[in-house]
Amino acid sequence: MKYIKRNQQQTRAYNRQLVLQMIYDHSETSRIDIARQTGLTRTTVSDLVSELLTEGLVEEIGQGQSNGGKRPTMLKFIDNQRCLISVDLASHEFKGAVVNLRGQILQKTTLHVGDSNGEEALKLVYELIDRLIDQADIPILGIGIGSPGLINPISGTIDYAVNLDWRDLPLAALIRERYNLPVHVANNSQAAAFAEKTFGAHHDQPNLIVIKIGRGIAASIVINGKPFYGDGPYTGEIGHVVVKENGDLCPCGKRGCLETVASSRFILKRAQNLARQNPSSKLNQLVADPGDITLDTVRQACLMGDNEVNQLIDEVSTYLGMAIANLVCGINIRQVMIAGMITELGDVLINSLQHQLSQHTLAYLAKEIHIEMSQLGKDIVIQGISALLLQRELGIY
Ligand SMILES: [Zn+2]
Repeated sequence: MKYIKRNQQQTRAYNRQLVLQMIYDHSETSRIDIARQTGLTRTTVSDLVSELLTEGLVEEIGQGQSNGGKRPTMLKFIDNQRCLISVDLASHEFKGAVVNLRGQILQKTTLHVGDSNGEEALKLVYELIDRLIDQADIPILGIGIGSPGLINPISGTIDYAVNLDWRDLPLAALIRERYNLPVHVANNSQAAAFAEKTFGAHHDQPNLIVIKIGRGIAASIVINGKPFYGDGPYTGEIGHVVVKENGDLCPCGKRGCLETVASSRFILKRAQNLARQNPSSKLNQLVADPGDITLDTVRQACLMGDNEVNQLIDEVSTYLGMAIANLVCGINIRQVMIAGMITELGDVLINSLQHQLSQHTLAYLAKEIHIEMSQLGKDIVIQGISALLLQRELGIY
């Protein structure tokens, strides 16, 4: 009996998701249309719609056109009845947003992190969420966090985050206890991949590789429209693969990790040094102080024909190109999206990467590999984590 009962519950949950998704995907629809398109009985649809009306996720918006019989009552998803708190801990500042159920950002807050880590960084996370909760003037459906590091996506524990120096931190449990709300924690590059798969320029492609490059570097793989986790949660951790023997010391303790030769932090540091050492560097024509150099400054200096800066980009592309070539050739996924802060480099990096790929793979294969900058911008992790929350809490894709 117990088995049958659980099965009925599962069926009901599945049917509820179907009905909600159908209402979510249409600007308006009716119970009859839902029954027709989902194959569910009218009684089942009516019953589930009543539940959604009571919960305030759906509203009735008057009568629609008749197809011969009685005019149907039209239904609409309510975008602003609940909200999500979505947080991105992956860059040099912690970012958070209050997001509606359509994924639109209603309020945004950032907190300067600097070199804070450990307990201090955790306090900043609480402070950020406190502020966002204060800003939210509608009930909160859940909290989502995109964090760097090795994360168990089921328990939401940060097993190890190098740059924040978090080890075995039960982040989801701590946040859930503090705010008494559903909490989901995912790796920030997986959140970025989720955003690409949901809102990106190639969201309709079944297979994608998304490489997020900012303070850290990680890849995420989408196969048949779903995140690929391999043998565990640590898929795509290419940032701490050693690519340069006896290279610079990485915060993880090794030397020459990919992050030490291709992260945005590395590029900025090198560009600042070039500007300081060479007064005639084009970088010095673009900024008054080397400390003001951004990745966009680096892009402009490349376009102005600065040899040293172009060499720097070629060096970065060589290491990144090798990492991408290994991924692409190993699993035969040909659409690669680059996301994160490094997108500011635009075509300057893409052209160089494409060239490096032709140097490191069979020419025939290199032609088939498409590398593009993500168009989703700086809020990609917030968008992805919001999409993840919608999926986990409401079953909406
Ligand atoms: Zn490392």
